[in-house]
Amino acid sequence: MQVGVLALQGDFREHLNALTQCGVQGVEVRTPLELEKIDALIIPGGESTTIVSLAKTFEIFEPIKKRIAKGMPTYGSCAGMIMLADHIVAAKDGQETFGGIDITVRRNAFGRQVDSFESDISAPAISNSPIRAIFIRAPWVEKIGKGVEVLASFQGSDGASHAVAVRQGHLLATAFHPEITDDFSVHRYFLEKVCT
Ligand code: GLN
Repeated sequence: MQVGVLALQGDFREHLNALTQCGVQGVEVRTPLELEKIDALIIPGGESTTIVSLAKTFEIFEPIKKRIAKGMPTYGSCAGMIMLADHIVAAKDGQETFGGIDITVRRNAFGRQVDSFESDISAPAISNSPIRAIFIRAPWVEKIGKGVEVLASFQGSDGASHAVAVRQGHLLATAFHPEITDDFSVHRYFLEKVCT
């Protein structure tokens, strides 16, 4: 199985490293031709508005959207979660997504860059031990549709608990960045449970 990492912007190198740590040689994806060669995709953290605009410039936005709709296993972290959400709150005017997961995410829900933080969170479906989660201008999930499985939640500044890791069939998304920790259990879960 060939796993690609969307390498237009954001921390795609960290995802490639995480794949290597899991024994998988990932490939960078920037063009429709490179997309055709992969079986699964990771959308990195970064800035969702920039990812959209570069994906359009590279004419890979619609091809990715179609592959996702046709069932390509895809994992998105942070900005990648936003890209996989069907709906966004606090979006930039007219901001589009690839969509696929029936959720509404709130961009920058956990605050601005200075409000970035780390925490150990419980995600029993992914790992028996708590997962080290790093949140950087992270979204949270505000509405969850039928068929979406919540894998982890975290309390926001509003005092309520919000989903921060979700799965809908072949699609997986986390509001946090496992790729910049040395805990690769989310990547392993993606490779072993979502891609198979
Ligand atoms: N706030 C960013 C966005 O809207 C996501 C931040 C991140 O990926 N660390 O795309």
